[in-house]
Amino acid sequence: MILSSASLALDETLIGDIAIVGTGAAGIPLALTLAEAGLKVLLLEGGRDQADPKTQSLYSGTVSDAALHNPPDTYRHRRLGGSTVIWGGRCVPYDPVDFEARPFVPYSGWPIAYDEVAKYYASANLWLEAGEADYDARTALEKGTPPLIAGFSSRRVKTDGLERFSRPTDLYSRYRKRLDVNPNIQLVFSANCTHIELSSDGCSVDYLKCASLEGARFSVKADRYILAVGGIETARLLLASNNVAKDGVGNSHGLVGRFYQCHIAGNVGKLTFFGRPHDIRHNYEVSGEGIYCRRRISLTQDEQIARRVNNVVMRLHFPKITDPSHRNGVLSGLFMARRFISYEYATRLRDGDQSDRSVFIRHLFNIVTTPLDTLKFALNWLFKRTLAVRKFPSVILTNKTNVFSLEVSGEQVPNPDSRITLIDEKDALGMPKVNIDWKYVPQDIQSVRKSLQVFAEELEASGLGQLEIDDANFERELMRFGAYGGHHIGTARMADRPDSGVVDSNSRVHGVDNLYIASSAVFPTSGQANPTLLIVALAMRLADHLIADQSRSAAAAGSAQGAPV
Ligand SMILES: Cc1cc2nc3c(=O)[nH]c(=O)nc-3n(C[C@H](O)[C@H](O)[C@H](O)COP(=O)(O)OP(=O)(O)OC[C@H]3O[C@@H](n4cnc5c(N)ncnc54)[C@H](O)[C@@H]3O)c2cc1C
Repeated sequence: MILSSASLALDETLIGDIAIVGTGAAGIPLALTLAEAGLKVLLLEGGRDQADPKTQSLYSGTVSDAALHNPPDTYRHRRLGGSTVIWGGRCVPYDPVDFEARPFVPYSGWPIAYDEVAKYYASANLWLEAGEADYDARTALEKGTPPLIAGFSSRRVKTDGLERFSRPTDLYSRYRKRLDVNPNIQLVFSANCTHIELSSDGCSVDYLKCASLEGARFSVKADRYILAVGGIETARLLLASNNVAKDGVGNSHGLVGRFYQCHIAGNVGKLTFFGRPHDIRHNYEVSGEGIYCRRRISLTQDEQIARRVNNVVMRLHFPKITDPSHRNGVLSGLFMARRFISYEYATRLRDGDQSDRSVFIRHLFNIVTTPLDTLKFALNWLFKRTLAVRKFPSVILTNKTNVFSLEVSGEQVPNPDSRITLIDEKDALGMPKVNIDWKYVPQDIQSVRKSLQVFAEELEASGLGQLEIDDANFERELMRFGAYGGHHIGTARMADRPDSGVVDSNSRVHGVDNLYIASSAVFPTSGQANPTLLIVALAMRLADHLIADQSRSAAAAGSAQGAPV
């Protein structure tokens, strides 16, 4: 059943087996899996089914450095479906190396092994409609599909890693009917959790306080509680619930909100291939099951460890879109249309001097001198993107020059000083807002630089191309967009011990026996991958744990009842 909090009586208490806060990538698969296993699920969502500026402003706050991080009310959406209403759909698994404690990456290492998570990728792929959990181009793509770079072979650099694309699935639209008809689910929207009320000894959650902007006030009581509110809001809710635990829930070691990671993401370098454009397959490919896929370039695990670098992935990308010297009408068209593109997707179009009239005229010239390319692109976009159910993932064009830049996504060293904290200012429901102080360290930048260097050496040895890097401006070029992408990681990290992490290996908050977190907040490290596939995989692992736990409790209760007195 789906209902608005407006239909509840004032101060009503809703009761269930499990209360889940948030209906994004984590919350919806969790709610359905638990309810289909027979548990009574209360699913709470602050937003509604449409974007609403007043609700969205509940996400507002401050950033310490506006050049480095976007405002907190951008790159996440407070509504049914959460940020999956806008996500790009790129599904990438975390690599085995991400789970290991590497001596050269401080605070690295997960308390669970790669295999323990990897077995949930198949189910995560299903929820996200990304096909088989096969992320190797050699097996996932049709036999005989040419390699990314014809003739390139290396023992240090992999070019057959794959990323898959979801439709992209907006989880609420996709699973709304299943949520609505399930008798074990009560989904309440316009239901913002404003406080986690602990029992007086602080060892368990007693109930959740909820409110709406329209004046609804009610409580939620359950055996177990799951926060599925995303990486920033998790820290906010835990820190703001500080009446019993004075430093906030799960924060007795001061770790909540620390180790905040995104990815080191940007476009760098000039990559020139000497052969024919035909020899480079930088476009999307379609797997046998009809899923858009794309190759990625990375150092092998052994090479990463030998070079002592963080995990970094590279993709072939256009040269700078904002620089009209690419002479591509479609890219120039994108630049001209940037004001009509959503804030999140226009980040890379806000690059460089935007007021220069001569730049504007050169872009216009590109458009009018390549009308056929522009028309072909527009038709392709209309049929393969706008009107298609499974959408062509992004703008990729035939590169006639064989000159590219590299788009990189790099892991960050977990850094306790990179933090989400509360500020004095409050939102319309009386909750303190957050400040985001995102930081990166020199190793993050050097890891990208060294990874590019290895690729440059291997390319040169192959005689197929060359990669030029402007070392003098490397960091500035790489970081010119700051942390973008909506990847909010690490603010309630997972560790076996409470003095090293906020949740244990079952995603349960240390010291609070019935509170769990389903979010990239629990990832101890960021890896190179976009987080959503792993968020869903870990949510499915948590669902298995809770279902097994429930069965054990039911069996124990049953045998206690049947025991002789
Ligand atoms: C433009 C963009 C593109 C992206 N592209 C990709 C991509 O290609 N691949 C990828 O892996 N990831 C991508 N992401 C990130 C992806 O969207 C997130 O990783 C994912 O949505 C996180 O899921 P979640 O359930 O943890 O949080 P969310 O999806 O943010 O869901 C949290 C939910 O909690 C609700 N909520 C929050 N606070 C409260 C409260 N106090 N009470 C009640 N409800 C509350 C919110 O309304 C929301 O519904 C992208 C993000 C953006 C913004």
